[in-house]
Amino acid sequence: MKLIWNDDHTVASMYVRQSWLKDATMCPEKGRRAIISPDWNTPNELTAFGTAVHAAAEAKLLGSATNRAQMLDAALEAFRELDTDTLRWVKYQRHELLPLFDLAVDAWLTDVYPSVDGDILGVEHNFTYEIGRFEHNGVTVILYGTGTIDLVTSTQLWDWKTSTRRYKPAEKQKQDIQSTMYGGAAVAAGWAEWPLTFNFGVMIRGKNEGQIVPVDRDASHFEWLRRTSMAFARQYLNNTTDVEWPMNDTHYLCSDTWCPFWSVCRGCHAQ
Ligand code: SF4
Repeated sequence: MKLIWNDDHTVASMYVRQSWLKDATMCPEKGRRAIISPDWNTPNELTAFGTAVHAAAEAKLLGSATNRAQMLDAALEAFRELDTDTLRWVKYQRHELLPLFDLAVDAWLTDVYPSVDGDILGVEHNFTYEIGRFEHNGVTVILYGTGTIDLVTSTQLWDWKTSTRRYKPAEKQKQDIQSTMYGGAAVAAGWAEWPLTFNFGVMIRGKNEGQIVPVDRDASHFEWLRRTSMAFARQYLNNTTDVEWPMNDTHYLCSDTWCPFWSVCRGCHAQ
């Protein structure tokens, strides 16, 4: 979440991404630390892998790659750009990861791409739209959702994912924040109306297997996102980011592998 004041501090513009909201919902302190130490959130090899597979899909959708080999080249080139000294390797060694690109590209081409329908309106489309506003101690707070939709067509919304295992559709339907945030962006842009369906195209890492997970969203899901986002905005304004926010260490993502702040937070204490 990013806070920008106007010159006389009467208007606070707050920008929230779904990934931040997801982290902060799981552990508010992780959200606070991401605000004050954004540089700590360095990508690991799994997020870099996902970004590279996105590049392959983008190349195909925009026509710069027409076949699997060219898509693979686009993925490997994107990965090489991310594979710097700051990349954290949390699961694979480099030689183990490289063969997985071809499988993911083929899974997208074979199991996901054939289900893409409609005219392409946007690929890797950046959005920012107003989620809501409220008054707080004489300040007008305007909350914006911001992010990037992987694919918008005249009939569909898509996001590409790479995952260790298949998604559980019922879990996504119940808990997913991204589909609500991105659905709201499509509605705000006039591309869609509630209710809508948001599609996840999931490539299972290490397997030549893609999965399509549709998630249904309506105006009541968006109202919930608006309420939870505003609660965090108030938390930010009331408590500032100078003091710790509530910490949740009961989730498996509270670990040395998955939380970049582990070494200065839960990891400082007896396990
Ligand atoms: S180490 Fe655990 S408690 Fe601390 S910020 Fe990370 S997830 Fe939250």
